Amino acid sequence: MSGPLLPGATIGVLGSGQLGRMLALVARRMGYGVHVFSPERDSPAGRIANREWSAPYEDLDAARRFARGVDVVTLEFENIPAGTVEEISALAPVRPGLRALQTTQNRLREKEFLREAGFPVAPFRAVPDRASLDAAMGEVGVPAVLKTAGFGYDGKGQTRISGPEDAGAAWESLGGEAVLEAWVVFEMELSVVAARGTSGLFAHYGAVRNTHDRHILDLTVAPAGVPPEVEEEAVEIAAGIFEELGIVGTACVEFFLTTGGDLLVNEIAPRPHNSGHWTIEGAATSQFEQQLRAVCGLPLGGTHRPEPAAMANLIGDLWKSGEPDWTAALSVPGVSLHLYGKKEPRLGRKMGHLTARASTPEEAARKAVEARESLGGA
Ligand code: AMP
Repeated sequence: MSGPLLPGATIGVLGSGQLGRMLALVARRMGYGVHVFSPERDSPAGRIANREWSAPYEDLDAARRFARGVDVVTLEFENIPAGTVEEISALAPVRPGLRALQTTQNRLREKEFLREAGFPVAPFRAVPDRASLDAAMGEVGVPAVLKTAGFGYDGKGQTRISGPEDAGAAWESLGGEAVLEAWVVFEMELSVVAARGTSGLFAHYGAVRNTHDRHILDLTVAPAGVPPEVEEEAVEIAAGIFEELGIVGTACVEFFLTTGGDLLVNEIAPRPHNSGHWTIEGAATSQFEQQLRAVCGLPLGGTHRPEPAAMANLIGDLWKSGEPDWTAALSVPGVSLHLYGKKEPRLGRKMGHLTARASTPEEAARKAVEARESLGGA
């Protein structure tokens, strides 16, 4: 590609969930076409896109046809088979590329990459089989967390090990190659969402504070309210990771801030992240517009945050006793509602989110939580 891809060009998106939907909304607003590719039909992103391809990610024929119809390919889901990404790459640029995807779609590869490149991570050992688990426990210590090496997000595929008596059941529950990671006693969880353009320029939204409920992101508060040197270090680590992986697009680095004041990288998401949703109303340019700008080779937008913001996730559990009371939530001043158009509100499923802005981070968090509580439900 010589110059930037201008409005009128078509963006291909691998994956068709809410991240693809929010990207598609921006892309269409800015005059781009959007084609999405995933095994789903009538998906959250597919309903906004100009074209929805519904085929398994392994269907190389469909993937090639999809790639021929677009000018650039990005993703909202990293677990795309390498073979498919390679096929597509021969026909259209894929941003971020294969290296970023292959590294981040497997926890073991990701942690090895981080350790070898000198980024701080919690102690871990590869656990290829049951016999290695005992040795790994001896080296890493307990308590620890056993995590599947492949395909895992939102705490899926992980189990805590308190002592040797848990090892057998933990191994059985995961069944496959795993990583044993030391238990981290953290002060808080942070993330840095940022974007890197085709020229290598980097733009970030600072460090935000995340709290999880049953391993699913519950609340994000921007800014995180950590000392400036901690925020600077987190941003510097994130920038280093983007550079090493050659990421072009929006991505997120999640951290633990330990009670001892150290930052440890927990995970890298090579795509927009749930902890960056607040940027839609809360920053000069949203993480999705930034993704579009980056993958199209356009200048990145400003990341200025006029005032603190908070984002509260709306999980399927809220629908337990019927449709949530939207009027109540929307009567909280300064609160915005996002629903992803998912038909079935299953327990634990991300259905939407609320964003609140206020003059302090505490006030923004309070408003987002108050609005969510007013919805009723679980
Ligand atoms: P993950 O899917 O690896 O991001 O883990 C999901 C959540 O589980 C994290 O956001 C933490 O709240 C928790 N968690 C994961 N690994 C550890 C660890 N080594 N020590 C303590 N908590 C952890």
